[in-house]
Amino acid sequence: MVGPGRALSLRRNPPAAYPSPGMTASAITNAMTIDVEDYFQVSAMAPYIRRNEWDTRECRVERNVERILMLLGRHGTRATFFTLGWVARRYPQLVRGIVAQGHELASHGYGHQRASDLGREDFTEDIVRAKKLLEDIGGVAVQGYRAPSFSIGKGNLWAFDCLQATGHRYSSSLYPIQHDHYGMPDAPRFAHAVGEGLVEIPITTLRLGGRNWPSSGGGYFRLLPYALSRWMIGRVNAVDRQSAIFYFHPWEIDPAQPRVAGIDLKTRFRHHVNIDRMERRLDPLLRDFRWGRMDEIFLGSPDPIRSRLAARGVPVLSAP
Ligand SMILES: [Zn+2]
Repeated sequence: MVGPGRALSLRRNPPAAYPSPGMTASAITNAMTIDVEDYFQVSAMAPYIRRNEWDTRECRVERNVERILMLLGRHGTRATFFTLGWVARRYPQLVRGIVAQGHELASHGYGHQRASDLGREDFTEDIVRAKKLLEDIGGVAVQGYRAPSFSIGKGNLWAFDCLQATGHRYSSSLYPIQHDHYGMPDAPRFAHAVGEGLVEIPITTLRLGGRNWPSSGGGYFRLLPYALSRWMIGRVNAVDRQSAIFYFHPWEIDPAQPRVAGIDLKTRFRHHVNIDRMERRLDPLLRDFRWGRMDEIFLGSPDPIRSRLAARGVPVLSAP
């Protein structure tokens, strides 16, 4: 049940809990997601910063996540934080802060290695290590996973088997676009089952002129005028009647981050374009749409361990 042929068996009809055609666009809750990693861990920087240099770099992720938590708090928005195990190990208080403020803690793997660069064994080791660490620190079940650089695609759909076998309930790792670093253009655009009890929830694209256009986050959101991004997300809500999945990174709101020496022009442009406007641009985005956590939108309930503990009167939230 593995290999490229498996894509054909993906179920196209979302379960009833997903937004239905009867739902108005303004009633649809979109998913706000943050990939918690630092500027030097971005895959495009890998040729310039070796993994064994990470410990020597100035870390800025903690203060940037604190700013994101304040921004979300001002808007009363709850979100999903796909957090790197490496960051959690170094900044456990950051993880506890995310949970304490009512956000969903999810996994971005441990070491930010592309799933497509790993074999089954190493991939499984990475996701198990991250899940266990995050659960130990956060005190909540980790149900969601996002592959670094959306690195699940035609060549490694077996990764879904590994996620299912290790207790994950959803993945948000496919990007149905054409891109030089990632993408699976012919993947289903919306949530679909990829195993027993495992749902894949791809990054949102807009279908226009026979192709999919990236429309919900990352460098594209910084590059395009906000009005265009708003229009695209609005179209997905109004025409497709589906929740959009928006994503960004803590380093994208940090214009003062150190410049990495020697990087090529394309990487420099993609990494830095409009970074000084990003935080201001998130304000109208949070105001103009309804946002929530991935688990509450797509799994229909908060994580079971937390609910169980809460039902027994056990306090789960703790001060950061
Ligand atoms: Zn990442």
